[in-house]
Amino acid sequence: MIVNTCGFIDAAVQESLDAIGEALAENGKVIVTGCLGVKQDVIRNAHPKVLAITGPHDTPAVMTAVHAHLPKPHDPYTDLIGVKLTPPHYAYLKISEGCNHRCTFCIIPSMRGDLVSRPIGEVMQEAENLVKAGVKELLVISQDTSAYGVDVKYRTGFSKGRPVKTRMQDLCEELGRLGVWVRLHYVYPYPHVDDVIPLMAEGKILPYLDVPFQHASPRILKLMKRPASAEKVLQRLESWRQICPEIAVRSTFIVGFPGESEAEFQEMLDFLDAAQLDRVGCFEYSPVDGAAANALPGHVPDDVKAVRKEKFMKVQEKISANRLQRKIGKTIRVIVDAPGVGRSTADAPEIDGVVSFKGGKPGEFAEVLIQRASAHDLHGRLQ
Ligand code: SF4
Repeated sequence: MIVNTCGFIDAAVQESLDAIGEALAENGKVIVTGCLGVKQDVIRNAHPKVLAITGPHDTPAVMTAVHAHLPKPHDPYTDLIGVKLTPPHYAYLKISEGCNHRCTFCIIPSMRGDLVSRPIGEVMQEAENLVKAGVKELLVISQDTSAYGVDVKYRTGFSKGRPVKTRMQDLCEELGRLGVWVRLHYVYPYPHVDDVIPLMAEGKILPYLDVPFQHASPRILKLMKRPASAEKVLQRLESWRQICPEIAVRSTFIVGFPGESEAEFQEMLDFLDAAQLDRVGCFEYSPVDGAAANALPGHVPDDVKAVRKEKFMKVQEKISANRLQRKIGKTIRVIVDAPGVGRSTADAPEIDGVVSFKGGKPGEFAEVLIQRASAHDLHGRLQ
């Protein structure tokens, strides 16, 4: 079993270590890859029995470890498309590596370096190969999807002989031609993100945007070195919804950042209430070795962080439940992940809710009449 890990913040490190433990218990043969792979000692101390550890995006090293521990069967399907760790109907499409930002809570740039965009022709070729192999949903990922092409000055490449710029909007337009679901993740809230919303309204890419806001207090955002205007974000959300009423916005936030006062936490709750986001994840701040934020004064005690996270999630739970109620009585398209379980355009795999119903064939699209909604999930009947 291959476990892909994350070393983004301490909570993610612990989650990754737990996942390795579960994989060892279930399978016994585990190869670890991903960000946390650069901290071999942390992994070895917790799980001495893992077979091999590789760093992030080192597919050759992963494959060497796989072949060392398992005889390689000849499989023309996987031999052609490389390593694929997701079900056959969806796939992650990595468009760049590294990041030019220096958010003070994050050590990804020091582990992976500055942004390096993959050539657009290569990304499109991979996307086409995946679609030819039966993939119906492409999940565009990177550390900073909206910065795609900045490092190469939006250089022109070629896709099917056509000149195309190495730029998020052009990439979305090209991916939109493939006739599959295209979902954008990790979109940093730059102003030019507004340009892809019309593509969502036109149905070229999914009306879904994963844009981590992290906080709403201008002072905390400044300390985080993130764009600092909650008011502008609210205006932009409003305009996105006007252009594309179907849009589902997902975000993540950090509670208990050093120096966060009760009033600043309340600012975040007020923002949440005003923003009415569809999907929200929340982390308690944890000091990662090497992060600049560790040196900030006023670290928030763990019990206060835990209380704030609980309050935050309660507020969001109500918002989510209300927003999902509006879908009752509508027939929506889902992609079926397993019999009885699908996802709508508003649900990314693993991190968002699901739509449950009776029946359905994994990997196929289906129409579901929504009859009921819980806090995060929808329930209905196949049409
Ligand atoms: S945008 Fe910030 S949080 Fe995201 S990878 Fe870059 S530095 Fe880290």
